[in-house]
This record gives sequence, C-alpha cells and structure tokens, in this order.
Amino acid sequence: MVITFDFDDTLKLTKLLRDEDGDIAGIDYTGDEPNVLILNKLKKALDAGHAVHIVTSRLWSEASEEGMKKWLASQLADHGGLAALAGIHFTDGKLKRDKLLSLGSQLHFDDSPEELLALPKSIRKVQVRNLDPSWDPPAPMAEAAVRRWVRSILSS
Ligand SMILES: [Mg+2]
Repeated sequence: MVITFDFDDTLKLTKLLRDEDGDIAGIDYTGDEPNVLILNKLKKALDAGHAVHIVTSRLWSEASEEGMKKWLASQLADHGGLAALAGIHFTDGKLKRDKLLSLGSQLHFDDSPEELLALPKSIRKVQVRNLDPSWDPPAPMAEAAVRRWVRSILSS
C-alpha cells in the first residue's frame, strides 16, 4: 500500500508567531519538534512494509530539501533513515492532489483541510492537527478514533 504524509505540521511542528497585539505575524518553520503521534504512524507503516512518501507543497529549494532530509534522517534513524522512504516530493505551492494520484497514494495524512478536501474519494484521509501550543486550541482531537482507524488499515 502507498501511504503519503505531508511534512510541515504533520510530521514536523511549526510555531505560530504573533506580534505584541496578538495578531498573527507569521509561521516559524525552523523548529525541530516532531509531531510524535503522526511520526509513529509513519514508522508503523514502514514496519508493515508499506511504501511511504513525503509530499510537501513547499517551494523546492536545495536548502529546503536538505533541511527536510536531515530532519527525516535523524527522526527515522531507528528505521533505516532516509533509505526507508520511497520518496520525497515538492509540489511547489500547488495542491497535492495530482502528485498523490500519480504516486498511487491510498492513505494521506495532512493538517491542511484544503488539501484533504481536494482529494478524490479513492484516497483515504487523516486530518492531522498541529500539536504545538502556539496554535489556537483545536477542537477536541479525535485521536483515539484516528488511532483505531489507522490500526485497522495497517493491519488489513
Ligand atoms: Mg502541513
């Protein structure tokens, strides 16, 4: 089975930056904190022998790709590092739909509702939420439901 994961916030957390008035001033992409819940799903998918791709809508740059690879290599050090992944893909600001279809993704993890809404029914979706406290408190997380669902998919 082909399983795809978004990168920012889905696997690596960003922080929401606010100015002194509390207005949103930007997003800090430079942290190293993993979204442990989802990273563990990725590792389980590797353990189960699934083809795992990372698909980001970031604009490609050498620095961005190298940064992602370095982070992924360190987070997956106990699972074979970068070599465990089937691929890393940039959509350069475009929605991921076409790339996911061309990869044959059957299950996609993403924090962006816009990305998930654009996907066809053939791709099962997991809505991820950013766990960093700088983001607004989210709706109660259906974490247990996601866990049950993913477990049932990975074990089938
Ligand atoms: Mg994201």
